[in-house]
Amino acid sequence: MSDYDLLVVGSANADLVIGVERRPAAGETVLGSDLAVHPGGKGANQAVAAARLGARTALLARVGDDAHGRLLLDSQRAAGVDTVGVLVGGAPTGVALITVDPSGDNSIVVSPGANGRLTPADVRAAGSLFRASRVVSTQLEIPLETVVEVVRGLAPGSRFVLNPSPPRPLPAELLAACDPLIVNEHEAKVILGEACVSDVPEDWARTLLSKGLRSVVVTLGAQGSLVASSEGMTRVPSVKVDAVDTTGAGDAFTAALAWRLGAGSSLAEAAAYASRVGAAAVTKRGAQESFPTAAEVASL
Ligand code: ATP
Repeated sequence: MSDYDLLVVGSANADLVIGVERRPAAGETVLGSDLAVHPGGKGANQAVAAARLGARTALLARVGDDAHGRLLLDSQRAAGVDTVGVLVGGAPTGVALITVDPSGDNSIVVSPGANGRLTPADVRAAGSLFRASRVVSTQLEIPLETVVEVVRGLAPGSRFVLNPSPPRPLPAELLAACDPLIVNEHEAKVILGEACVSDVPEDWARTLLSKGLRSVVVTLGAQGSLVASSEGMTRVPSVKVDAVDTTGAGDAFTAALAWRLGAGSSLAEAAAYASRVGAAAVTKRGAQESFPTAAEVASL
């Protein structure tokens, strides 16, 4: 029996958001709204999403010894995430500086900070977390060599889920471990590179499987998702909702899917549940603030 349904290894950022009438041009200063500070980063988001659904969840991440780091630790603990694996210090907490104009268009500058200091040695030192976890999920907002070390540190029988965001070409060792790789359209095209010769998601999935992946999920926003493995390919419809803000939908979807796979669901069953979680997340503003409980998913 595992201690954790899900171990998330990944980033934790403070999102610093200012509303502006017009985003500034080079050399220009504009006045904006009051500053809003939100806990974010794909790793932190996934961990909160899973814990809110009821998954026993741990986070392996690095934050700075500063107010943003404490904000992130507090939000993880409030959601019920075990933060024993959150390392503190080495650099300031990662920050995303976000300006948003009235049309919703934004400009973002990310300082990875402590996320960039989460090292392969940190992963090796967290062996007991890996041995206690049924599923391990990660993203690419931490160094690639750290993600590769995650694959090497997997306990026998545990499952690895990767959302390669922000996308970049990936080594074969990493691709071969993904079960599944979860990509949106943009991520699929970057990972495939020159091998992407079509605009059809089924073709992307087929090409990825031919590269040695065990399974692939392509998320298609309001169009739902596509799941593919050696057993076949299926479209999973989305749940119709009034979307107000899609921020974090992919993180909520990934966390829910990883958790359900660990609980024994098939890929198609897990994606169907994750679609409900993603749909619930888009009905509320924000990222972590929008993630549903299991009861909210059931009543959708
Ligand atoms: P992001 O990077 O914005 O967090 P993403 O591009 O990684 O998201 P999406 O494909 O936008 O991921 O969303 C993930 C899943 O959430 C979709 O496959 C779908 O099931 C659900 N979803 C997203 N947007 C909607 C929507 N407007 N209505 C219903 N379900 C949605």
